[in-house]
Amino acid sequence: MTEVGWDADPEVARWQGLPALSENLRADVCVVGLGGSGLAAIGEVLRRGLSVVGVDAGRVAAGAAGRNGGFLLAGPAIGIHQAGARWDSEAALELYRQTVIEITDLAGLLGPEVVRQVGSLRIAGLPGDPVDEAEEADRQVELADCERQYDFMRQHGIKVERYDGELGTGLFLPEDAAMNPARRALGLAARYAGDARLFENSPVTAISEGRVQTPGGAVSAGLVVVAVDGRLEVLLPELAGRVRTARLQMLATEPVRPGRLPCPIYGRWGYDYAQQDAAGRVFAGGGRDQFTEQEWTAQAVPTEGVQAWIERVAARFAGDPVVVSHRWAASVGYTEDGRPVVTEARPGVVACGGYNGTGNVVGPIAARAAVALGLDGTAPAACFSS
Ligand SMILES: Cc1cc2nc3c(=O)[nH]c(=O)nc-3n(C[C@H](O)[C@H](O)[C@H](O)COP(=O)(O)OP(=O)(O)OC[C@H]3O[C@@H](n4cnc5c(N)ncnc54)[C@H](O)[C@@H]3O)c2cc1C
Repeated sequence: MTEVGWDADPEVARWQGLPALSENLRADVCVVGLGGSGLAAIGEVLRRGLSVVGVDAGRVAAGAAGRNGGFLLAGPAIGIHQAGARWDSEAALELYRQTVIEITDLAGLLGPEVVRQVGSLRIAGLPGDPVDEAEEADRQVELADCERQYDFMRQHGIKVERYDGELGTGLFLPEDAAMNPARRALGLAARYAGDARLFENSPVTAISEGRVQTPGGAVSAGLVVVAVDGRLEVLLPELAGRVRTARLQMLATEPVRPGRLPCPIYGRWGYDYAQQDAAGRVFAGGGRDQFTEQEWTAQAVPTEGVQAWIERVAARFAGDPVVVSHRWAASVGYTEDGRPVVTEARPGVVACGGYNGTGNVVGPIAARAAVALGLDGTAPAACFSS
């Protein structure tokens, strides 16, 4: 039971696949990694009227981009009020504005079937009564943090509402959205496949200035864009120390109480999260803080301990016991200060990644910044580490 729950969607299951690279090709730009970020880079290169080849080691969105919670969250991973204090406040606010635009654009591009503009809920703790005093105490501290976030957002004119309802107490963020992440990536790949030359099952074995090598052929290109979040430092070892790979895990359940979760919801400082589809299936993840050391790994297989934790979390969000149908894991990249990396890693090779567990929306923005860095020499915005 280790398949990805999102792949059970009939639209995803219908994916015909793309060929593997089997010859030597030439293009203006070669993009390595066909997740949400790599596909955004491809869209940007096409918009500029340039030729592009994209390659992925597996299927489109074989990595985190097809295996995540499907939350489309505005703002930085570490929370807008914390980023406002930790980074330059204007940089955090500018990123927030850009991510709101990104979500709206994605919804316009892929439609309401793929992107559900339903907002998101941040609650203090998890739904239901605290199981012990420690949980109650942590909930109170988190409630105070929700208030700080509320004040920061209101002060800066960002839409936010207080939430107090069946699922708990916290905040409603109306500009967020939800999706099946595999549908998003496959939808974009299908859209670009006519103009870009895209290849699956083509693992890159070497990258040098102007050349990307795979077992079946090489791509010669003026610019190489590496859009890989987890395992970025495996592909480009010079980035070790700037990005660090961690495993995140999820599961999906059989349908339970349809309509219980009206929008994506995260609790316990964002460590635990879930969304529910129309049929009532719950897609839940979390527990990263409970298993910190063991999850610093480039392995992407689910483990018993984390899965047991998430099962309890899923039941809390569902408000009922759950029956698990799918379990999976994927790799993501973390950075020290919470800022994603957009950088020239080698001459003619730019890279982006390190989204700290929240790259669905920031990733495409970073990827376009990487293209601009590589083609125009434009320095990335202050919210990125270059
Ligand atoms: C369980 C989980 C839950 C998450 N939940 C959320 C969420 O709800 N919201 C959110 O915003 N973010 C979430 N994230 C983080 C988010 O999934 C990632 O930040 C984002 O998907 C990164 O996308 P990407 O395109 O940059 O990189 P990736 O998804 O890492 O894509 C990289 C691609 O590169 C390919 N690749 C790797 N090595 C090679 C190679 N050598 N040659 C060729 N191709 C290669 C991979 O196969 C992969 O398809 C979650 C992540 C996980 C794992």
